[in-house]
Amino acid sequence: MKNLSDIKVIKKILNSFGFKFSKSLGQNFIVDGSVCPQMAENLTENKNSGVIEIGPGIGVLTAQLAERFKKVISVEIDKRLVPILKETKAEFENVKIINADILKIDLNKLIETEFKDFDEINICANLPYYITSEVIMYILENEKININSLVLMLQKEAAERICARPGTRQSGAISLAVRYYGDPEILFPVNKECFIPIPKVDSSVIKINLNNSNSKIIKDKTKFFKVVKATFLQRRKNILNSLSAGMSKSKDEIKNILNSAGINPNFRAEQLSFEDFSEISNLI
Ligand code: SAM
Repeated sequence: MKNLSDIKVIKKILNSFGFKFSKSLGQNFIVDGSVCPQMAENLTENKNSGVIEIGPGIGVLTAQLAERFKKVISVEIDKRLVPILKETKAEFENVKIINADILKIDLNKLIETEFKDFDEINICANLPYYITSEVIMYILENEKININSLVLMLQKEAAERICARPGTRQSGAISLAVRYYGDPEILFPVNKECFIPIPKVDSSVIKINLNNSNSKIIKDKTKFFKVVKATFLQRRKNILNSLSAGMSKSKDEIKNILNSAGINPNFRAEQLSFEDFSEISNLI
C-alpha cells in the first residue's frame, strides 16, 4: 500500500495526474502519518460500523477507515480527484467513492441504499473549512438519519467554539445548537505544518457523540433555537433587551419569565447554561 501521508508520494501522485490544489474547495491534504490513524481509532470500537467520509482528497484518511471498518462511502465534490482515488483505493473493496457535494446529497437515501443492514453508522472527515458549520448542522438537523458519532478535523478556533461549554465566554449559537443534538469534545490538536499546502491556521480534531438526552428537557425545539438566535444575534446586549426584541415580547413579559426561571435579566447570552436556555424557551 502506498504511504499516502508521505509528502513525496503525494506530490508524485498529484503530479502524475496534473492536479492543482483548489483553494476555494478548502483543499489542504494531510501529510502527517499519525493524524488519520488517530481519527479513525477514535471513531468507534465497532468494526462492523459503516462510515461516511466527507472530502477524501487523495484518500489518506479513507485508507485508515477502510482498514478498520466494514464499509466506507466517501463523498468528494472535486471530480478531478475521482481517478486519483480510484488508483489509491484500488486495493480496498469496501470503499465506494461518490462524486457529489455533501450539502446537496440526500443522506437518507444514501444510508438506505449503502448501509441497509448496518446497526451503526459514523461520520469522519477532515472538513473543508469554508463550510464547517454548514456541514455539521446539515447532518445534525437531519433527524431521519441515525448517526452514532462524528469525528471531524476543523480549524482550531471553530473547534473551540463548537465545543465551548454554554455559559463560558467562547460559547456561541453553534455551541448550543450542537449540544442540542450531542456532546462535543476536543480530541487533539493538529499543527498547520501537518498539511500541504500549509494553511494559515492550526486545526483540532473533535468528536460529537450523538447518543445523548440533552434535548429531552426542551419542550419546543423551534422556540429553543429562536431564543438562542435572539440572544446571540445581539450578544453584547443583556438578555432582557435581546429577548424582548428577538422574541417580539414586552420587557415586562420577559422580566416575568426570567424571574420565574431564576435567571438574572442583566446576564448576556454567553453567561447562560444549556439548562437556562431550555428553561427560558419552555416558559416563553
Ligand atoms: N481528507 C483529505 C485529507 O485529509 O488529506 C482532504 C481534506 S481537504 C481539507 C477537504 C476535501 O473536501 C477536499 O478533497 C475537497 O475537494 C473536498 N470538498 C470540499 N467541499 C466539499 C463538498 N461540499 N462536498 C464534498 N467534498 C468537498
